[in-house]
Amino acid sequence: MSISIDLHAHSNISDGLLTPAELMEHAAMQRVDVFALTDHDDTAGLQIAESEAARWGMQLIKGVEISVTWKRRTLHIVGLKIDPEYPPLKEGLAKIRAGRHVRAAGMAAGLEKIGISGSLEGAYAYAQEGIISRTHFARFLVEQGIAKDNKAVFKRYLVKGKPGYFEHEWANLEEAISWITGSGGVAVLAHPGRYELGRTNMLLLLEEFRALGGTAIEVVTGSHTVDQYVEFAKYAHQFGLKASQGSDYHGKGISYMGMGRLPTLPGKCIPVWQDWDEVKHFVRKPEQDSPPVQLSL
Ligand code: AMP
Ligand code: MN
Ligand code: MN
Ligand code: MN
Repeated sequence: MSISIDLHAHSNISDGLLTPAELMEHAAMQRVDVFALTDHDDTAGLQIAESEAARWGMQLIKGVEISVTWKRRTLHIVGLKIDPEYPPLKEGLAKIRAGRHVRAAGMAAGLEKIGISGSLEGAYAYAQEGIISRTHFARFLVEQGIAKDNKAVFKRYLVKGKPGYFEHEWANLEEAISWITGSGGVAVLAHPGRYELGRTNMLLLLEEFRALGGTAIEVVTGSHTVDQYVEFAKYAHQFGLKASQGSDYHGKGISYMGMGRLPTLPGKCIPVWQDWDEVKHFVRKPEQDSPPVQLSL
């Protein structure tokens, strides 16, 4: 039996569209067996996700995706198998979330300057109980007819050098990794192909990431091309890092990859879950939603 594993996804606690319970149902319908909820800078969805996972016969891996500033760039570090109650992690994430409010006000001020008003209230209206992010601003701007879709709105308004971009200092790499590993979790460098670092800086980053206690890098992710699966499998091998895989699902229409049918990791990779009991001992429940078997006598 091959197990379906997805170790990166978002609920509406961060910038996904589905509630944690809806997301778990979606994952179950896509036949995911081992699933990590990895909301940006917030672990508030994990409790519900865990009970829903049990209901659907899935194994939840408790996760988070931490925003980090490294050499004045934003990186994302995924923590897997974390303990969300570990005080340094809890406090660190709370501080990042507080910073997000300040940043959101800065973004709104930038948009106001080019004549777009009401974006702060507009973005918060989409950010339900969890964090406020650029994705919420994007939804507001699309709703206002200012850009046609999520992709266009990021490109024109929300990336570096654009009016709605506001420079922000996140956690540093050392802190983020230590919160994760200190809580008993493993640190994974998320979608390294997205950072446009150039080879020299990528090598520096991987060296530093490993030296600080990082365990794995995402090789298969919705943010990578097939060529990048191969490229980052090589980097992982070179640095003695394990490989992770995740859809980075955010919801219908705003995800690059669906859940449940992830391409397999390139051959050389050592999966980050290689020695996890959650995977080794996973037993799939009988199908939940298939019709009852008819016995013909
Ligand atoms: P934030 O953490 O507030 O900076 O928001 C980052 C989130 O915005 C990412 O996790 C993605 O979900 C989304 N995002 C970032 N860049 C883009 C882009 N170019 N196009 C669409 N969505 C993006
Ligand atoms: Mn996101
Ligand atoms: Mn990310
Ligand atoms: Mn993500």
